[in-house]
Amino acid sequence: MRQPLYSLHPRDLSPHVLAMVGLPARGKTSIARKITRYLSWLGHPTRVFNVGNYRRNLLGAHHPANFFDPQNREARRTLDEMAMAALDDLLAWLGGGGEVAIFDATNSTRARRQIVSERCRDKGYPVVFIESICGDEAIVETNVRETKLRSPDYEGVDASEAVRDFRARIAHYARAYETVTDLESSYIKIIDVGRQLMLNRIHGYVPARLVPLLMNMHVAPRPIWLTRHGESIFNQQGLLGGDADLSPHGEAYARNLAAFIRGRARELGEASGMPGEPAWIPDDVVVWTSSLRRTMQTSRPLTQRSISWRALDEIDAGVCEGMTYDEIRLKMPHVFEARSADKFRYRYPRGESYEDVIQRLDPLIIELERQRSPMLVIAHQAVLRALYAYLMDKPPHTCPSLPIPLHTVIELIPTAYGCEERRFQLGPEVQSVGEAAIAHP
Ligand code: ATP
Repeated sequence: MRQPLYSLHPRDLSPHVLAMVGLPARGKTSIARKITRYLSWLGHPTRVFNVGNYRRNLLGAHHPANFFDPQNREARRTLDEMAMAALDDLLAWLGGGGEVAIFDATNSTRARRQIVSERCRDKGYPVVFIESICGDEAIVETNVRETKLRSPDYEGVDASEAVRDFRARIAHYARAYETVTDLESSYIKIIDVGRQLMLNRIHGYVPARLVPLLMNMHVAPRPIWLTRHGESIFNQQGLLGGDADLSPHGEAYARNLAAFIRGRARELGEASGMPGEPAWIPDDVVVWTSSLRRTMQTSRPLTQRSISWRALDEIDAGVCEGMTYDEIRLKMPHVFEARSADKFRYRYPRGESYEDVIQRLDPLIIELERQRSPMLVIAHQAVLRALYAYLMDKPPHTCPSLPIPLHTVIELIPTAYGCEERRFQLGPEVQSVGEAAIAHP
C-alpha cells in the first residue's frame, strides 16, 4: 500500500550554526549535547564540534592553566588554530547535508565571535550564540568537581591540585571575557541555569524550537524510571493495541513496582540535593501513566499521585488493533511487508508510525525536562522506546528494535553529558505471546 505524503516538520531547513559562549565549567558542552540529542531525536541531523577535543587530539591533554593565559601569545595562536580547524570541519559537515552544527568553544571575546559570524555568513548559514552565564560559585564548584576532574586534562593529577589549576584557567578566561551584546548577533542567554533567559533576534524554526527546551533545563539530579504496564490480558493472547485489563501476573507486578519505587526512591533520595536544594523523599515521586486502563491499573498500588497523559498512549495500530501478529501476516501481507521495510516510518493504515509517536511526545519531553522531582513513567512498548531513545541519545530510527521488556524498571539518572542506566527485573516472569514478534517483525 502506498504511504500518503506527509510532513511532520519542515524538510527543507537551511543549515544553522549554534555557537556556545561562556567561561569554562558553565555547562556549554552539557547544553550543546542536550540540544543535539533533542534535535536529532526530532529528526534534524545535529552535531557538536568541541574545540577542547581538537586541542586534546592534536596536542595531547595536559596543558597547565598558564596555557590559557590571554597574554601567552604562542598558546593563543595554537588555540586559535584549533578553533579554526573545528570551524572548518563544522562548515564542511553542514555543506555535506548536516542541518544544525554546534560550535562548542568558549567564544569568549567579541573578536572571536566576529570571525565565527563572518565565516558562517560567507556560507549563508545564520548563527545564534548561546551564552551560559553562571555567577553561583557553588554550582561552578560542583561542575568542576563533577566533570573537570574526570577530564583527560587531569588524568593522574591530585584532585585538589586539579581544582586549583582549573580555577586558574577560569580566571585567565574571565580577564578577557566579553558578554554577547544586542548589536552583535542573535543570541539566547541562559543565566544561572535557567533562572533567567534572554532572547535577542530569535527567528526561524530551529531557534524557536530550542527556547522551551533551554527554558526548562536544570541540573538537579533525579532518577527517571521507565516501565511498561504489568502484563495485560491482550499481552497473554498476543493481541495488538486495545484497552485490556491487567492479568493476575500484571497485578502482581503492579504491587512489586510500588514497593520497589518506595524503597529505591528512599535510597537515592538520601543522597540527593544540590547546593541550595532540599533532598527529595519517596512521596515527591511524580507518576505519569497513559490514558489506557493497563497503565492506570499498574499505578494503583502506588501511594504517589499520578497524572495520565493521552500522549503516552501506545502507538495506534489503526486497522490492525486487536489482531495477532500472525493474523496481520496472513490477512494483510502488504502491511507486514511495508512495515518490515521501514519500521520507523511505516504508518499503520489509519494508525501511527514511530515517527508520529516521537512528534506527539515532544511536548512531554519539555515537561519531563522541567520536572525536578524523581519521575516514574508507566507506559507502553513503542512509546517507551521513543522516550528511551531520547534520554539515551539513540538514533531515532533504532527505536523499533530497542528492548523494553515487561516487568522491568529502567532507571535512568541524567548526568552532565548523558544518562546512567540500570535495569531492575521485578517479576513475576512472563512471556507475552507474539508481542516480541510484533515488535521485531
Ligand atoms: P569547558 O569550557 O571547560 O569545556 P563547559 O562550559 O563546556 O566547560 P561543561 O563541561 O558542560 O562546561 O560542564 C558540565 C557541568 O555544567 C555539569 O556539571 C552540568 O550539570 C553543568 N551545567 C549544565 N547546564 C548548566 C548551566 N546552564 N549553567 C551552569 N552549569 C550547567
